[in-house]
Amino acid sequence: MPTKSQLKQLADQHGTPLFIVDHDVIRRNYAEFKRHLPRVQAYYAVKANPDPAIVGTLYAAGASFDVASMPEFMIVYEYVWQLPEKERQDWIWDKIIYANPIKSNETLADLDPYKPLVTYDNYEEIRKIARHAPHAGLALRIRVPNTGAMVELSSKFGAHSGEAVALIEAAHDAGLVVEGLSFHVGSQTTNVENYVQALQLCAGVFAEAKSRGFTLKLLDIGGGFPAPYHDGVTPFRKLAARIRPEIDRLFPRPLEILAEPGRFLIATAATLVAEVIGKAHRDGKPCYYINDGVYHTFSGIVFDHCCYHLEAFRRGPRQISAVFGPTCDALDTISLAEELPELRLGDLVYSRNIGAYSHASATSFNGFPPAKVVHINQ
Ligand SMILES: *Cc1c(COP(=O)(O)O)cnc(C)c1O
Repeated sequence: MPTKSQLKQLADQHGTPLFIVDHDVIRRNYAEFKRHLPRVQAYYAVKANPDPAIVGTLYAAGASFDVASMPEFMIVYEYVWQLPEKERQDWIWDKIIYANPIKSNETLADLDPYKPLVTYDNYEEIRKIARHAPHAGLALRIRVPNTGAMVELSSKFGAHSGEAVALIEAAHDAGLVVEGLSFHVGSQTTNVENYVQALQLCAGVFAEAKSRGFTLKLLDIGGGFPAPYHDGVTPFRKLAARIRPEIDRLFPRPLEILAEPGRFLIATAATLVAEVIGKAHRDGKPCYYINDGVYHTFSGIVFDHCCYHLEAFRRGPRQISAVFGPTCDALDTISLAEELPELRLGDLVYSRNIGAYSHASATSFNGFPPAKVVHINQ
């Protein structure tokens, strides 16, 4: 992680707002994932941050990728398949899963030549896949409890486990092969029991499917692994220690186990440096306007239900302050209660652990371009 003086030096060199991605941290996070869940192949959820340089570092570390749109698919595909032949793999399932249960007909037709592995959770999708992507392999997404996740997803995706075998049979009748099951417990999940319950639910489906003549070969345990945003977050090591024996007990080898970590791999790898461009006094506290905000790198405040803390380079007694982004919208509020020293115009502030669902969901709203990206230790 870059030190304060490195942050300052990079900001002086490149200007602000600056989104600094530390590839040493990405490699460390990936290594930690593998150390605690050695049997699980990590398919990095590209939506957390689709920068091709990040894809490159994770690929070199041994990761595979979870994509959810054709542009995301192409980011990974173009990276991996432009490698020299001895470095790349031709079997795309080892490197890419298309984990969006809903795909347009056009997307399916575009995917079909690659013989992709795709998820589904309903009958309409089976008909679409059979027609437009008959060469795809399938993973059935199961609806699992999302209790306590920062981002809830169970109301949007997933088939009820009671319906699972009928959906496997329907795919089979349509000439498709269901390779396994997938689930996603929701993002930033600190309730480990969500994973345990999901594993048990899937073990039940595996057994029922087998009794009906369908042998499933893989289980995708999804993402949701929490990033250590603050001290209270369940450490990954603890979560892994709880689910590792459950996986081995319920899904013995040679069953293949996949996961789709996004946030866990990338959140702590990036730091944003921004500049104070305006200052006022309102509601009894100093208000600072900085040159990055909710429509840009801090978009996770809205889309990801995440809060980010700001720190200053300047020292001094701290007081509760408000911090706003540069646009004219009131939504562009980063915080109404940050503890900051008295800042001056031109001062820099920074926010750590902002790698996931930040730069990725930012657009060039109001004519302010997004932060320039600099990769260090790449
Ligand atoms: C978003 C998403 C992920 C990644 O979630 P994280 O919480 O960032 O790990 C994984 N799988 C699916 C299906 C997703 O939608």
